[in-house]
Amino acid sequence: MNSAIPRFYEMPLDRRLKTVQEFSGLDDNEIALLKQECALDNSIAEIMIENVIGTTHLPVGIATYFLINDKDYLIPMAIEEPSVVAAASHAAKLARLSGGFKAKSTTPVMTGQVQIKNVHDFDIAEETILKSIDSIKALANKQDSTLVKRGGGLVSAECRKLETERGDMLVVHLNIDVRDAMGANAVNTMCESVAPYLEELTGGIASMKIISNLAAQRLVTAEAVWKKNELGEELIEGILDAYAFAKADPYRAATNNKGIMNGIDAVLIAAGNDFRAVESGAHSYACMSGRYQPLAHYRKNENGDLVGRIELPMAVGIVGGATKTNPIARIALKILGVRSANELGEISACAGLANNFAAVRAIVKEGIQHGHMKLHAKNIAIIAGAQGDKVHQLAERMIREKMVSVSRAEELLKEMGH
Ligand code: NAD
Repeated sequence: MNSAIPRFYEMPLDRRLKTVQEFSGLDDNEIALLKQECALDNSIAEIMIENVIGTTHLPVGIATYFLINDKDYLIPMAIEEPSVVAAASHAAKLARLSGGFKAKSTTPVMTGQVQIKNVHDFDIAEETILKSIDSIKALANKQDSTLVKRGGGLVSAECRKLETERGDMLVVHLNIDVRDAMGANAVNTMCESVAPYLEELTGGIASMKIISNLAAQRLVTAEAVWKKNELGEELIEGILDAYAFAKADPYRAATNNKGIMNGIDAVLIAAGNDFRAVESGAHSYACMSGRYQPLAHYRKNENGDLVGRIELPMAVGIVGGATKTNPIARIALKILGVRSANELGEISACAGLANNFAAVRAIVKEGIQHGHMKLHAKNIAIIAGAQGDKVHQLAERMIREKMVSVSRAEELLKEMGH
């Protein structure tokens, strides 16, 4: 049997499962697990994506102690990696001592790009487009009266001349206020509807019409202060050295920013958001200077306390996408009590900053493995085949021995007669 399976998408779920079983040799228990429904019913999953055979699960933990703009939050985080929830909570607990996080956002403006080829005179094309902005606006806004009613819609257009390996191109940016949506569908629809008119105005040929995930006009900033008397001067100096290291070295900055995205993605996955969109925006924003940089910045204030500040694009939504179809996302948004997409973005940025601070603090202070060890050891025990109480016993023993590895876990399991 090969993977060329015509009309797989039209098969009922049971037949799809049978086909996958025949292909891969899954046993009946494994098929039963795939069929087992969770909060997200298979019937809803089938509306969300194609070729569904089941749903997957992630733990959802609650990060505590977050005080953001003087409001208390319990933050649901969906993630498979140990220590992220604990680290975020710990950083928030320490930040709370100096008033918690302060966060703010710009207007939620996303950018759509229309690529126009074969333009003879770029200056005239630009002038014509900018002169016709009212008609462009009317055309775009006609596509989404719901958005316009809520105060959103096209706000401006910009023209960029791009020199590429296949010749010069005109790229028109349509800047669209998407209010509480992530905005990709809204932006793409508007770009497509405006493109024929842009062709008319420029005499060129509109090719790609698509959102940019470098949402450089939709930014969130968040700041927190960690007190000198809590951290100690030595640790603060260590964190500042770590920041300097990340600024000077993309190898370090990559891992630093991964730690930030641990927090941000976990919030966004719980809230049913497109975390890949935020990831690509974050990493491209980290390169805006031409060199890959850390997304969070550290300095000492006049009292010698550590001030952390994060700034990044935040294309998130509390309407649209999977925010309503996935019941867990609905519940996560209710736990957060968010009233706007901006508020969700601010919370996510604070979680990112908290995780960054906690990870760097741990690496500088005691090494990252120290805090990871408990859950990591349990995970290793399960990989080695431990079940029930043995998972805990085995993990404890490996931690005592300071030897956490699958091979050691297997040896110990044998000794324990498992
Ligand atoms: P959507 O089209 O599902 O919902 C947005 C719509 O909801 C708006 O256009 C508006 O008509 C309506 N709406 C109701 N109340 C609103 C409010 N208060 N504020 C704003 N709009 C309101 O979703 P979307 O946000 O346009 O698109 C998000 C989806 O697009 C995500 O699932 C994402 O994965 C997907 N997507 C992403 C990309 C990308 O990032 N490159 C590309 C294509 C699709």
